[in-house]
Amino acid sequence: MLDKPTYEELEQRVKELEQDTYKNYQTEEVLKNSEEFYKKLVDSSLDLIYRTDQTGNITFISPAVKRLSGYTIEEAIGMNMSEDVYLNPEERDHFLSKLSKNGYIQNFEAQLKRKDGSTLWVNTNAQLLKDEDGKVLGVEGVTRDITVRKQVEEKLQKAYAEMEIKVEERTSELVKINEELQKEITIRKQSEIVLKESKELYKDVITGMNEGLLLLDKNLRIEFANLSVCKIAEVASVSELIGTSVFDFFEDEPQIKQIKDQRETGHEGESHVSEFVGKTKSGNKKVVRVSTSPRFDKDHNYAGALAVITDLTGKKEIENRLKASEKQFRTLVERMHEGLMLDDENHVCIYANQAISKISGYRNDEIIGKRIIEFLTAESKTKLLSEKSKRKIGEIGYYEIKIISKSGKILDLIISSTPIVEDNVYKGSFAVLRDVTEQKQAEKALKESEEKYRTLFEKSPFGIAVIDKFNNYSFLNLNFIKIFGYTLDDFLTGKEWFKLAYPDEAYRKKVIKAWLDDKEIYGTGQSRLRIFDVVCKDQLVKTISFKPVTLQTGEQFLIYEDITERKQLEEQLLKSKEQAEAANKAKSEFLSNMSHELRTPMHGILGFAKLGISRINEIKKENHLMFFTEIKESGEKLLVLLNDILDLSKLEAGRVVNEFEENKLSSSVTMVTGEFQLLLDEKDISIVFRQPEFLDTAFFDRFQINQVIRNLLSNAIKFSNSGGEIRIELARQNKNLFLSVIDNGLGIPNNELELVFDKFTQSSKTKTKAGGTGLGLAICRKIINDHKGKIWAENNLNGGATFSFMLPYEQEVA
Ligand code: ADP
Repeated sequence: MLDKPTYEELEQRVKELEQDTYKNYQTEEVLKNSEEFYKKLVDSSLDLIYRTDQTGNITFISPAVKRLSGYTIEEAIGMNMSEDVYLNPEERDHFLSKLSKNGYIQNFEAQLKRKDGSTLWVNTNAQLLKDEDGKVLGVEGVTRDITVRKQVEEKLQKAYAEMEIKVEERTSELVKINEELQKEITIRKQSEIVLKESKELYKDVITGMNEGLLLLDKNLRIEFANLSVCKIAEVASVSELIGTSVFDFFEDEPQIKQIKDQRETGHEGESHVSEFVGKTKSGNKKVVRVSTSPRFDKDHNYAGALAVITDLTGKKEIENRLKASEKQFRTLVERMHEGLMLDDENHVCIYANQAISKISGYRNDEIIGKRIIEFLTAESKTKLLSEKSKRKIGEIGYYEIKIISKSGKILDLIISSTPIVEDNVYKGSFAVLRDVTEQKQAEKALKESEEKYRTLFEKSPFGIAVIDKFNNYSFLNLNFIKIFGYTLDDFLTGKEWFKLAYPDEAYRKKVIKAWLDDKEIYGTGQSRLRIFDVVCKDQLVKTISFKPVTLQTGEQFLIYEDITERKQLEEQLLKSKEQAEAANKAKSEFLSNMSHELRTPMHGILGFAKLGISRINEIKKENHLMFFTEIKESGEKLLVLLNDILDLSKLEAGRVVNEFEENKLSSSVTMVTGEFQLLLDEKDISIVFRQPEFLDTAFFDRFQINQVIRNLLSNAIKFSNSGGEIRIELARQNKNLFLSVIDNGLGIPNNELELVFDKFTQSSKTKTKAGGTGLGLAICRKIINDHKGKIWAENNLNGGATFSFMLPYEQEVA
């Protein structure tokens, strides 16, 4: 084995070899025809010279084969290049394709197999062997062993690769270091900026601080002071302070003791705060709070102090005032009648004033720390929770709640609750509570009584209206509407009401005047009953009694009563009373008349009879006749009277049955006038009667109607003066017959025209003349009424009276 050559030696060697090969080829060219030379060359050549046939089998090989591959020439001849020689047969294929392409190949490197199995690196130059016709016969080549070079190359490559890796490693290391360096530089730069900024910031902070900042040296002389110190110490600039002693500011030694103590015993990071009274150069006293901390140098030696000074002078005053007002407020809150309560976010009571205890009956310590919900009724518990959820979203609440007091009483509370929110977080609520139990009860009672009065109003048998302070009608009850028909839609003001209710202007004025007069006279709660006729909505007139009452509220209360019916009844009653009284009077008059009427003929009869008897022997015959005539006439008068009474009582008792027949009224007149002829002649009264030109028949009871005509004619004669005239007229209208007896006698007072038809009644004009019984006309009326007719009296314009009756032509026969 050779010594391991250096790379440079190897390089040199390879070059030489290449030059050798080149020289050899030149020689080959010269000596190609000299076999000898050729053989020698071949045998002595270091390179392997070979020849193969078309199939790659070795046909010739130079002796170098033994050195290069370990095979003898004999062993080598016949070996196939692809199968036996090349390590990778693909390399042989590659070699052949290159060779066939150009006909020759140069410096083709390949790996061959040695006999001992090791690898032989070779460099081959080869050419195709062709015959004269150009047909390929095989390959001829020169192969050189380059194993050593290859190994060196490999090593070199390895060394290169290793170096590369190392360089890479180093480079990446360097890159890394570089990067870190860069980073550090950036950070430093940044921190420099930050430092610079923070320095400025600190400067700003220190300068702008409200607190004074002092840096003291170990002798407690001022090294540094900010502007606030100047302000507190009342000096114009910082420079005035630098170098001065703090003792100049703090008057008394004991006050500075804390800083001094720290010099002796203080530790780093320790600070002390206390309040001092300082004195400025101008002599003003300042209350300050001083916070001091000692400074130490590198060797932990005391280096002075840092002091922060806060001016409390103004604040102290405010604080004192605040304290006083807080005390006042606290007393106020405690003394308040309204309950005040604070609860936390879980509705646990954290404060309650005395009023809460007063309301609930629980002691303060029984309330604080408890959940509010525990004191509530079941119903109110749910209510509270819903209220609290509203507080949680920041809503203010005003609500009612029921609590159970310590004595078990249920109390009504009104709560006004405000949420307490800090940094958007619900912390609880502040509530003002008021006990409204009594108020509620009163309200309830009021409501009940209102209800009661409303019912009374509505159910009242009277109409009720309420007029407000502005004279407008504000309420009408049902009965009002029932009485008048009007509703509040019809009128609002008093004026409108008056116009509706009293359309007649004169009457309206009267009513309004009475109303205003009463208002003036009668005060609150007093009233006077008034009665007016009101025109209702249906235009009917009702008599209404009014009772107005002015209330303390300024409202007016009116009570109405419909007294129309009552008034009518009263009127009727009055009338019947009057009638009864009249009847009574008539009766008395009748009785006196009757006794007189009965007595007069009776006296006549008895007187003449007595006289006749006593003088029976003395009197003459003529006198006897006179006596008997008197007795007869008196008897006849009596008979008339008795007949009248009997007739009327018969008629009134309904014992007279009328016989309705078709009769001529003129016939009755003719008949009755005939009866009176003697009397008429006696009184020199003439009768005027013309037979009618129309048919004067009707259905009537002839006997009864004759009686009526008889009575009327008898009266006319009786109350006519002698020489008078009586006219009897008949008329017919529609289906009625009329008869009138017209005299020119005394006549009848107008207001007695109706009265004379009453029983036993005589007109005031004729009474003294002792007329008759007063029954004749009553009998007439009864008869005519029974005939469904009418009878009446009138006065004539020229004096005298006319009595007429009407008979219906046909009678409804019962
Ligand atoms: P008497 O004639 O018997 O009194 P009457 O009933 O017939 O009773 O009449 C009642 C009264 O009416 C009379 O008393 C008289 O006062 C009045 N009277 C009746 N007829 C006439 C008449 N033609 N003129 C005036 N007064 C009359």
